[in-house]
Amino acid sequence: MIPVEEAAERILAPVRVLEAERRSPLDALGQVLAEDVRAAFSIPPADNTAMDGYAVRAADTAGARSDAPRYLRVVGELHAGRAPGVAVEPGTAVRIMTGAPIPPGADAVVQFELTTEASPGAAKAGLVGVLRPASPGSNVRRAGEDVREGQLVFSAGVELRPAEVGVLASLGLTSIAVVRRPRVAILSTGDELRSPGEALAPGTIYDANSYSVAALVRRYGGEPTLLGIARDRADDLVARIRAGLDSDLLITSAGVSVGDYDLVKEVLAAEGEIGFWQVRMKPGRPLAFGQIRGVPVVGLPGNPVASMVAFEQFVRPAILKMLGKRRHRKPEIEARLVGSADNRDGRRCFVRASVAREGDGYVATVTGPQGSGILTSMSQANGLVVIPEDVPEVTTGDRVRVQMLDWPEVE
Ligand code: AMP
Ligand code: MG
Repeated sequence: MIPVEEAAERILAPVRVLEAERRSPLDALGQVLAEDVRAAFSIPPADNTAMDGYAVRAADTAGARSDAPRYLRVVGELHAGRAPGVAVEPGTAVRIMTGAPIPPGADAVVQFELTTEASPGAAKAGLVGVLRPASPGSNVRRAGEDVREGQLVFSAGVELRPAEVGVLASLGLTSIAVVRRPRVAILSTGDELRSPGEALAPGTIYDANSYSVAALVRRYGGEPTLLGIARDRADDLVARIRAGLDSDLLITSAGVSVGDYDLVKEVLAAEGEIGFWQVRMKPGRPLAFGQIRGVPVVGLPGNPVASMVAFEQFVRPAILKMLGKRRHRKPEIEARLVGSADNRDGRRCFVRASVAREGDGYVATVTGPQGSGILTSMSQANGLVVIPEDVPEVTTGDRVRVQMLDWPEVE
């Protein structure tokens, strides 16, 4: 048996970052920039007002008080989206709306609330009274205060979140180079499997793994393709595996343990260079890894929980690495355990648990029976309690480490 870390390292070592593609910023959400992005112009492109109010010369407002307003002649009105027209000469003001450019001559904006516009009793025709002195620059958003022309806005390697998508749009960009998403082919194997939508005959069950694995692939940024279900026959396995070889990664499930019909091992080995590992973990001991015609192949165990747990340990990091991401690991927290689990044969156990806050810390409650076929135990869990190889059992009250499956990855 090989340790979990060794299996993880050996799977990750040959995986390479994929090449770039061009996409719209919105379609590239979650992908990693493959180019530096520089600003072709400043944002905002011109000084503009942060408030609805009056553009003034600050010097004209010196000494203004609410009981002795400084009156200025209103010489124009400016909405956002208009080019500045009339200039602000001494003794005048331009009525101006948020986002409108500051007219020539003005150096401050007085919001409506600090003018006689807000106290109609003091209004005078054609004039506005300023109730408080304005300092130069007040309520003015400077050209380039967000982004300066020529500035390096994002370096290659940045992961696009909603804020980056917005910044790229504010730069006027309609396409950018990002590391493309890996295409991941998924093959379930087993005579007993039927697809949802088909009728179940005695002895058959629905194929869960194609869907849980495809959902994991999609969650972590890959593009899954379902190759369907291969029967436990070499010819069918070979044909379907070959159909997946135009992908960046091929994932099979089941047929990698020691049963009479576990042909996946033999077929994978005959088609390419594949190793079979017994990984020192529970669930998920049997695992195949290698490559067929240059395509990395991971053979996950068949039990539905085991295939998901093994995916989280070994396949997620590979997909994130292909995407050019630096963060591959799930965060681990410490929690107080409720429930128990034992570990009699020195493997690393991953126990499904539901984690909640408790005071300053966390409590991790084991989600019922832990059989590796009990997929609802995975559905109830948001974390995996990790029991080290040398700890024979854990029980209520113990401090345990928990991998948080629904939290964003860390480095
Ligand atoms: P195997 O490794 O082929 O012996 O499969 C181990 C167990 O996982 C068996 O009980 C299979 O029926 C079950 N299994 C295999 N593949 C799937 C699948 N795609 N969906 C649900 N259960 C599966
Ligand atoms: Mg089988």
